[in-house]
Amino acid sequence: MKLISENVFLKDYYFYRAGGAARYLACPKTIQELSGILEWRQKKGISYIVIGAGSNVLFSDDLFEGLVIVLEGLNRWIIRSSNRVICGAGVPLHSLIEFTALSGLAGLENLYGIPGSTGGSCLMNAGAFGTEISDNLEKVEVLGSEGKVFKLSREEIEFGYRKSSLDGYIVLSAEFLLKYADPLSLRKKIDLTASKRDEKQPVESCSCGSVFKRPENNYAGTLIESCGLKGLRIGDAEVSEKHANFIINRGNATSSDIYRLIKYVKDTVYSQKGVLLEEEVKLINF
Ligand SMILES: Cc1cc2nc3c(=O)[nH]c(=O)nc-3n(C[C@H](O)[C@H](O)[C@H](O)COP(=O)(O)OP(=O)(O)OC[C@H]3O[C@@H](n4cnc5c(N)ncnc54)[C@H](O)[C@@H]3O)c2cc1C
Repeated sequence: MKLISENVFLKDYYFYRAGGAARYLACPKTIQELSGILEWRQKKGISYIVIGAGSNVLFSDDLFEGLVIVLEGLNRWIIRSSNRVICGAGVPLHSLIEFTALSGLAGLENLYGIPGSTGGSCLMNAGAFGTEISDNLEKVEVLGSEGKVFKLSREEIEFGYRKSSLDGYIVLSAEFLLKYADPLSLRKKIDLTASKRDEKQPVESCSCGSVFKRPENNYAGTLIESCGLKGLRIGDAEVSEKHANFIINRGNATSSDIYRLIKYVKDTVYSQKGVLLEEEVKLINF
């Protein structure tokens, strides 16, 4: 089976559905396939990046000269042993949470609706409504730069706000220790979380979620809104009317439209409010 494709448009591989193409692209499903791909790229001396579900990235409109490894299909399995759950990196976070809720295991419900993969969410330390994925994490299995697979315990990983020291590793799976709870009440909780998201976020549009991290003692959305930027457009990129910290692709935005709007918002908030916003979205090949 051909594992590596050449000259592939990237818009089908990430949420923004904007510009960009990769010289090489691979979508491994197993660690063996992933290792083979990494060996191939090492022999060729090609640079690479990994993405998961692509819900927090923006590629530039330029050709990415290296290899993009899409991990969304990697290790699509979940194993449960009493209140311990091991989940492959490619499993969508919502599938993991559906599974744990149905199994009567609590701890992840607030993260329901974050559209990332489990691996990408560990790297980002994804969080919502007061919970971060690292709160219930016990171990992460990774592939290191030397090509070795090993486990890192929670204590060996540094987690911060939307960041972790997992950068540089490829996350293969994650192990969670959860608390027993009533499955029905967990179902209610995840439904409530989903409706809170629907109410506040433009979940129907292509975006990367929050463009900027939350600044200290403030909210990026509030600052952007108070600068009067809601609804502002560059090309087909728009500051969402529903949530000012979301920049959406109305259909035909280029990455350059989105990028220029991000920069414009950042500059405006800085000049009007004196707050330097930091991007949460990972900007690639700009
Ligand atoms: C509508 C919407 C709502 C969102 N709401 C939230 C929210 O409430 N809270 C929140 O925290 N985020 C939110 N996000 C952002 C995003 O969903 C999270 O950051 C998510 O955890 C990213 O996972 P991913 O698999 O999509 O990662 P990607 O976007 O594919 O990648 C993000 C980063 O992780 C790295 N990466 C991905 N997979 C792996 C892996 N297996 N091993 C190593 N590195 C990897 C990539 O290299 C990249 O640096 C939202 C996004 C959208 C579109």
